[in-house]
Amino acid sequence: MNDRLSVWAKNISPSPTLAVDSKAKKLKAEGKDVCGFGAGEPDFDTPDFIKYAAIKALCDGKTKYIASSGLPELRDRLAALYAEKKGIKGISADNIVVSAGGKFSCYLSIMAVVSPGDEVIIPAPYWVSYPEMVKLAGGVPVFVSASEENDFKLTPEQFEAAITPKTKMLVLNTPSNPTGSVYSRDDLDALMKVAVKHRITVLSDEMYASLTYDGFEASSPAGLSDEAREYTIMISGFSKAYSMTGWRLGVMCAPLDIAKAVAKLQTQTTSNANTFAQYGALEAIKDTENAKRSLAKMLESFDRRRLMLWEGFNAIDGISCRRAKGAFYLFPNISSFGLGSTEFCAKLLDEELVAVVPGVAFGSDANVRFSYAVSDAVIEKGLERMKKFCARL
Ligand code: PLP
Repeated sequence: MNDRLSVWAKNISPSPTLAVDSKAKKLKAEGKDVCGFGAGEPDFDTPDFIKYAAIKALCDGKTKYIASSGLPELRDRLAALYAEKKGIKGISADNIVVSAGGKFSCYLSIMAVVSPGDEVIIPAPYWVSYPEMVKLAGGVPVFVSASEENDFKLTPEQFEAAITPKTKMLVLNTPSNPTGSVYSRDDLDALMKVAVKHRITVLSDEMYASLTYDGFEASSPAGLSDEAREYTIMISGFSKAYSMTGWRLGVMCAPLDIAKAVAKLQTQTTSNANTFAQYGALEAIKDTENAKRSLAKMLESFDRRRLMLWEGFNAIDGISCRRAKGAFYLFPNISSFGLGSTEFCAKLLDEELVAVVPGVAFGSDANVRFSYAVSDAVIEKGLERMKKFCARL
C-alpha cells in the first residue's frame, strides 16, 4: 500500500518538536507529573484587546473571502511598521503577503524561489521545518555547521565556501529556534555582502525579533541597504510576539517579483488567511500602547525564566550553556555524558518525566532544546530533576 503515496509524502519527516510535545501531553493526560520544556509557543493567552477586535469583526460580518494576500489595511500598516522598526525602505502593501502562519509564509517563499535541483544553504542548528520545505520544492538542503564557539552563527567565510553554481538561497533565522542566538547588524552586513556578490536570495526568518534580552535589538538584513533589501525575503508574524499561535497568521515581505510569486501561489492553495483573525492582527498593530504593555509583561517573565534556567544549567556538572539573547529557547551542551541527544532525552523523560527536544532534530547531536515558555515552578522542578538525572549518568 505504501506505493500509492507520493515521493513528497515518503521523503518528508514529521515534525519532531510536535512529536515530543504530544508525548508529554499524553503522559500528562495519564496523570503523570511531567515537566514539559518541548513547547514552541508562549504560555500566555492572546491579549484581550486583540481578541475583542476579532470578536467584533466576527459580529460585524467580516466572515467572507478577502484579497488573497491579506487585508489591505493590515498590509499597509505592516509596511509602515517594518519601515519604522526594521528600517526596510521603499516598501508598500504590494511587498507583503499575509498567510496562514509563519510556517506557510516560509514554505511559499521557498516554493517561489527554489526549483528542483537548486541548493539551499541552511546553517545548523536549524529550525526543523526548513530542510523539509526545501525538499518539498525539489531542492537540496546544504547544511553548514555553525559552531557553538561562534554562538551557533554562520560566518561569511563558511557561507562563501558553501556556495556552488546551484546555490539559490540562504536561510537565516535570528533570533534562532533552537539556539536563541542572535546575529548582530555587523554579522548580517557581512553575510549580505556575500549574498549580494553571488546573487543569492536570503530567507530571513525574524519570527522572534521582538523577543530579545540583555539590551539586544534585532536587525533585519532587509533594513541594511537598498541592495541587501533586494535579496531578502523577510518573514515575520503574530504567533510569538503577540501570543497568537493558534490564530495562524504569518507575514512575508519581499521584493515585488517574489511577493507577486508568493501571492500567486497563495491564490491557488489556501486563498486568504482567516479574515476575522486578520482584524485581530490589525488591532495588535494599531493599538501600540496595549501591544507594548503586553509584550513588556511577557518579556519580563521570559527574561527571568531564561536567567533561572541558564544559571541552573551552568550549576550542573557536565552541562554547559551559552547565554542566548533571543527567542525563548536555550540549547545546552550535553555531550560530556557520552550519550546521543535522542537517548539523553528518552532517558530523561522515562526516568525523570522531563520533556525536552533532542538537538539532533535541529542538526546538533551535542545539544538539547529547552523552551522556557513555561512557569517558574516548572523550571525549578525541571532543574532539580535534571540535576539528579545528570548526577546518575
Ligand atoms: N519560524 C520559526 C523559527 C519558528 O520557530 C516558527 C514556529 O515555531 C515559525 C517560523 C512558524 O510560526 P507559525 O506558528 O506562525 O507558523
